[in-house]
Amino acid sequence: MTEPTPVISNELTSETPVMAFAQLQLAAPLARAIAEMGYESMTPIQAQAIPVVLQGRDVMGAAQTGTGKTAAFALPLMQRMLKHENASTSPARHPVRALVLLPTRELADQVAEQVKLYGKYTDLRSAVVFGGIDMKPQTAELKKGVEVLVATPGRLLDHIEAKNCVLNQVEYVVLDEADRMLDIGFLPDLQRILSYLPKQRTTLLFSATFSPEIKRLANSYLQDPVTIEVARSNATASTIEQHFYSVGDDDKRHALHQILKSRALKQAFVFVNSKLGCARLARSLEREGLKTTALHGDKSQDERLKALESFKNGEVDLLVATDVAARGLDIKDVPAVFNFDIPFHAEDYVHRIGRTGRAGQAGLAVTFVAKSDLRLVAEIEKLLKTKFDLEPFEFDEDLPDIHKQGHINDGHRLYQHRDGVPARSAYAERPRAPRPEFRRQQAPVDPFFEKPYEPSLPPEAAPAWEAAVKPAGRSISSNIKPKRKVAALFAGD
Ligand code: AMP
Repeated sequence: MTEPTPVISNELTSETPVMAFAQLQLAAPLARAIAEMGYESMTPIQAQAIPVVLQGRDVMGAAQTGTGKTAAFALPLMQRMLKHENASTSPARHPVRALVLLPTRELADQVAEQVKLYGKYTDLRSAVVFGGIDMKPQTAELKKGVEVLVATPGRLLDHIEAKNCVLNQVEYVVLDEADRMLDIGFLPDLQRILSYLPKQRTTLLFSATFSPEIKRLANSYLQDPVTIEVARSNATASTIEQHFYSVGDDDKRHALHQILKSRALKQAFVFVNSKLGCARLARSLEREGLKTTALHGDKSQDERLKALESFKNGEVDLLVATDVAARGLDIKDVPAVFNFDIPFHAEDYVHRIGRTGRAGQAGLAVTFVAKSDLRLVAEIEKLLKTKFDLEPFEFDEDLPDIHKQGHINDGHRLYQHRDGVPARSAYAERPRAPRPEFRRQQAPVDPFFEKPYEPSLPPEAAPAWEAAVKPAGRSISSNIKPKRKVAALFAGD
């Protein structure tokens, strides 16, 4: 038996300031909002960044996702903007004073949601604009005037060109997930947007990694920034138990079922490398009785937000996602992340497994390694400066053979009745008519791509694997052992 892979140490050190929010003397409306959200102590990035931003200094912050960086910039910006707070209905009294730029629609939506919560008891207005949806409602909101504008670069430029917003009174700019913005190719858009802003301003740049490109961006746009690095830029949180299992491509779904069941996992992220693979896997898992939704770049904006929402509110158990679609999403308490495919870029391993073990929660990251993947594993090891044990995967014979039963499904049940009682799985509860795609397997066009993906279970149903087949008498894999957990959110180095 192989010992579990050691987690990477990222412990709280004596240098890491741990401060209560009360010590900051935040303005009453902000203090009230965060108290309501249950924040007591600041996370390391907050303890370091908030006082610096309150002084009006530029910041170059390296922080992995889930460290609390949104509050680290949003709270001090709002505190400084409170002097402009007013309840006037005149748009002229509410010019854009803070601009927060993010690479993806989901991230923009998520940050805007948090900003709204922090500003709940102030008269500061905030709005979010991103592409893929109608510009009109965004335009109407912008025309009324907003102090804090959260945006993706492309859509913001559309609004600037349409003269829907004026940025000549911007005092604060946040470039969040800056490395991702450069990866996506937003540099020219960023340069154009920054050229519309007053030179006198505070600029905050956050990035998971400080690549040479990011340093160049910082040199061009930040003035004498304070560098804040609360966690190694390529570190994984110490709350995450990581496993690398040797599993052939054809056995990965089987292994996934087995781990979900043996660990009694309620929800998980499953990462794949391609949009097509994402859609296919989501479909297979759904067919095998798991409530699954897919998140990839070919989905419409509306579908992506719906997929995210249904996962967040627990309507679906598995979110199968590609890297671009899932990067940085704040979905808390995801008990596990599966790397169904190993990411092509080792940095994406860090981002993927950052979905679990967040905000001090314990997490599990499982990576399936086929023979051809060994080179990619070596790259992850090089990045993280850690050697991982490649563990053999022990298949439990009690589990359903999904290759025989689930894969070519024609109404056949994957999960059997237990003790004469129908198991609560998608197949047991809601036998379905064969889907058109099974009948037309040779068709050149996959109808899946022509309609939104729809999970087929009602929200209240339990995860299918909880009820599927008879429970294993022993732990499925003797390789899985719990690790000592350390609160990641408050750990710095
Ligand atoms: P972020 O890295 O900004 O996406 O934050 C990750 C999650 O941690 C969010 O859901 C925040 O609401 C939460 N969070 C941020 N700061 C704190 C804090 N000081 N105490 C507790 N939760 C926090």
